[in-house]
Amino acid sequence: MYLDVSHADVHSVDGRIFKVTFAPDCMTHACRCVRESDRRRNDACCQYGADVFVPERQAILRRATEIGSVLKEDRKNPAGWFDERNPEPDPAAPSGIILRTATADPDDDTSGCVFLQHDGERGCGLHHAALLHGFPPAEIKPRVCRLYPVSFGKGRLGLSPDFNDYSCAGDGGPTVYRLMRGAIGEIFGAPLLQELDRLESRPTRSRLRALPPRPVLHVEGAPDARDSTSAD
Ligand code: SF4
Ligand code: SF4
Repeated sequence: MYLDVSHADVHSVDGRIFKVTFAPDCMTHACRCVRESDRRRNDACCQYGADVFVPERQAILRRATEIGSVLKEDRKNPAGWFDERNPEPDPAAPSGIILRTATADPDDDTSGCVFLQHDGERGCGLHHAALLHGFPPAEIKPRVCRLYPVSFGKGRLGLSPDFNDYSCAGDGGPTVYRLMRGAIGEIFGAPLLQELDRLESRPTRSRLRALPPRPVLHVEGAPDARDSTSAD
């Protein structure tokens, strides 16, 4: 259920973000692809790469030296970091298009984001480079990645479309909102957090409805009609 929000950019929020829980720490979660018989794959949500806006690509390229320093030898060249073959037109996006980060194998869109190819064990190479070189990950990490598993589009804040594809969904951590509150605040500002905090603390109302009496139709020898209907 979407709840109305009074904010310049965010007009509604999926109420499930206040209730559904998530894995508390990606770096220690043993990620599984639940739609593929629970196949183990670390950083499974990064397997397809990510959407990138043009200004985000520029921010990444400005830090090419720092990012390149943590990437594997054959990934250091920024010329291979983005898949610009099929930019997606989007009038709402800066410059009117959405690009994607490249995948390790350009012809296999499940082969993993190119920024997973770094000298650490797992996790985002952009994040890794920022921490190593002492600047905020938010400077270079695409918004879609900073918000995951929350998604944002057309004024709506909700759960990412692939939310239920991975084992972190529903894991015993905090709620999605509590986990992502900091990132949401960084991106959309403190006034939105005030709005969302208010919605989060709303008591959940469950209404008891008085149903009108149902006509009982009884056919001799037939089972009682009340047993064959779905719940009201
Ligand atoms: S969001 Fe889920 S699938 Fe992605 S790295 Fe974290 S735990 Fe793994
Ligand atoms: S940029 Fe980082 S977080 Fe985003 S898909 Fe690539 S590796 Fe994952």
